[in-house]
Amino acid sequence: NWEPIKGDIELIDVGFHYKTGEKVMEHMNLKIEAGNSIAIVGPTGSGKSTIVNLICRFYEPTSGQILIDGVDYRERTQEWLHSHLGYVLQTPQLFSGTIKENIRYGKLDATDEEIIEAAKLVNAHEFITHYPDGYETVIGEGGSGLSTGQKQLISFARALIANPAILILDEATASIDIETEKLIQDAIQVLLKDRTSFIIAHRLSTIVNANQILLLKNGEIAEKGTHAEL
Ligand code: ATP
Ligand code: MG
Repeated sequence: NWEPIKGDIELIDVGFHYKTGEKVMEHMNLKIEAGNSIAIVGPTGSGKSTIVNLICRFYEPTSGQILIDGVDYRERTQEWLHSHLGYVLQTPQLFSGTIKENIRYGKLDATDEEIIEAAKLVNAHEFITHYPDGYETVIGEGGSGLSTGQKQLISFARALIANPAILILDEATASIDIETEKLIQDAIQVLLKDRTSFIIAHRLSTIVNANQILLLKNGEIAEKGTHAEL
């Protein structure tokens, strides 16, 4: 078990290119104070998911630094980072197995009660219990058999049960029906509560609740402000 962290995130002069490609960003400076919620919007290919990849350390900056609570994350282990940071990626990372196993992946020693509690909080309980096998329903690799919205809600339950200080959310771009959309938006509010969050937003409803909104263009922050200001 690790010491708790506050959850400050800071990108200092971050530059990055994928091995095969051109520069995706240069001199990116960004600070998210613990407990705040930042939403980022921008055209496709502008580098939004790349920032997620960097903060989650799936890739490391090619120049500059990323600090978590003031410390360069390369001075820590991946295990340390991932014990404090939860994420829901644009394509939910579900594996072949039961719904329960997929949620428990966020906290391996979670009890069934904790799993159900988390699912309820993110509005997933209802659709899960509509299946004849409920939480024991087997889903396929990548969550096949579920709708995009349902996959998101299960990923949310997984992220919530881990109770991370930092939450990274890359909203799915696929269209989701209005009813599920409402469930997702309410679930996002639950997820954000009392933690630092960084959200790639594709929907206006998500942006409205963020403390700050960044507009990313070509790997640069073109504008920032609150929803009222932009
Ligand atoms: P979208 O709104 O479509 O999700 P995005 O803002 O998330 O777009 P990124 O996925 O960060 O955009 O991509 C930024 C740039 O990096 C694009 O030019 C993209 O082609 C490139 N890119 C993204 N992932 C990789 C990768 N794994 N390898 C090489 N290039 C990549
Ligand atoms: Mg993306």
